[in-house]
Amino acid sequence: MNKPKIVILGAGYGGLTTTVKLQKRLGVNDAHITLVNKNDYHYESTWLHENAAGTLHHDRSRFRIKDVIDTGKVNFIQDTVTEIKPDDNKVILENGELYYDYLVVALGFEAATFGIPGLLENAFTIGNINQSRLIRQHIEYNFALYNNEQEKKQERLNIVVGGAGFTGIEFLGELANRVPELCKEYDIDPKLVRIICVEAAPTILPGFDPQLVEYALNSLEARGVEFKVGAMLKECTPEGIVIEKDGEKEEIPTLTTIWAAGVRANSLVEKSGLEHNRGKVEVKPDLRAPSHDNVFVVGDCALIWNKETERPYPPTAQIAMQEADVCAHNLSTLISGGGEIHEFAFNNMGTVASLGHGDAIGVILGDKKIFGWTAAFMKKVIDNRALYKIGGIGLVLKKGKFDIF
Ligand code: FAD
Ligand code: NAD
Repeated sequence: MNKPKIVILGAGYGGLTTTVKLQKRLGVNDAHITLVNKNDYHYESTWLHENAAGTLHHDRSRFRIKDVIDTGKVNFIQDTVTEIKPDDNKVILENGELYYDYLVVALGFEAATFGIPGLLENAFTIGNINQSRLIRQHIEYNFALYNNEQEKKQERLNIVVGGAGFTGIEFLGELANRVPELCKEYDIDPKLVRIICVEAAPTILPGFDPQLVEYALNSLEARGVEFKVGAMLKECTPEGIVIEKDGEKEEIPTLTTIWAAGVRANSLVEKSGLEHNRGKVEVKPDLRAPSHDNVFVVGDCALIWNKETERPYPPTAQIAMQEADVCAHNLSTLISGGGEIHEFAFNNMGTVASLGHGDAIGVILGDKKIFGWTAAFMKKVIDNRALYKIGGIGLVLKKGKFDIF
């Protein structure tokens, strides 16, 4: 009998969760499942800001894909997807090609630079393990160099973060804790270091609960972070950035700009010929692409409207994993030929953002506000829960966060 071929692209939150759910639902004889990912490891994208600041070693944020998949049921291919050809049921990889009966696109996000001059060339982004390692090493290198040059260069100690959304804020929280350690290590007066965050909106964390925004602002400012709100980052050069606020331009000299001001779907989606809306596939309620019935899209590559707010759901790991549950259910239902197809319905578990070790803000259980230690504890529970959903208690014990105090 010809087994249907399922190909899953990407082993992030969406793709790996779909895979581990599918391997539980389908028997060896039901389908041929192939998972493709650039690396032989999965990384927790939601921890990358900690790796970038150097407060958590990057090996803590990643684990081998083969340790969580059933290799008797899933064929794992480490390769890079270069093209998706949905009209031919085919995917092109750097080192080969694959045909499928069903495809799951879960290739995640890329930084959105909105055509701002110089950003692509000169700014760093927090998008994967190696980008995060580069940021950590670049900051440390500049601190190390500062006292070893005849002419002291302030731009080595100015660190700019573009964007005060959740990524920017979480990174600032870690960085504000890391800088005093670096200063001690490299004999630098902490007063010389500037951490500057540029945010275009009139407030940090636009749209989030104002009381918690105030809490985050106070927590970060108390640790030395300078905020420039209502200020657009307009240009990034090797020597600094240009911002514009109230029609006035200002140059800030820096060798370190971290761009954390937004994400878009993996650009392979836009190039694939799948019908898309600004680079994302506006999926049907069952998570299939409207133009191709045998293609599912989950995670940051998918777009689903929140009917209450009339805005798309934000790209989050929480949503990617919930979509993966539905995708795995629907795929196994289609293959087994029995049961009902499910529609995606978001179950909001809340939002908690870290402000560095021991501090955080969040809204849980609908409208309960939490902050400080309680929120920091909750954030670790959420991080560990994501590990549990993919690799069970074994993975939590291996990679989980237990350093609460
Ligand atoms: P990803 O998890 O990014 O996975 C994509 C996978 O595809 C990766 O393994 C990648 O290597 C692989 N891949 C990419 N391109 C190719 C290719 N061409 N070929 C082969 N493989 C490829 N969300 C939350 O809900 N809570 C949080 O606390 C939170 N914190 C965050 C903190 C940071 C610093 C960042 C950057 C994001 C955070 N998010 C958070 C958002 C969350 O990380 C994303 O929404 C989530 O990772 C999306 O899951 P995904 O499966 O679509 O993509
Ligand atoms: P975002 O789009 O949420 O925030 C980007 C910020 O950059 C916005 O505040 C925007 O006003 C600002 N900005 C845009 N252009 C600018 C410019 N030229 N100059 C200055 N500021 C500019 O992006 P993000 O923070 O990367 O988050 C991406 C997704 O990941 C979101 O869905 C977010 O909810 C999710 N996330 C969640 C968590 C969490 O739940 N703890 C943590 C990190 C990220």
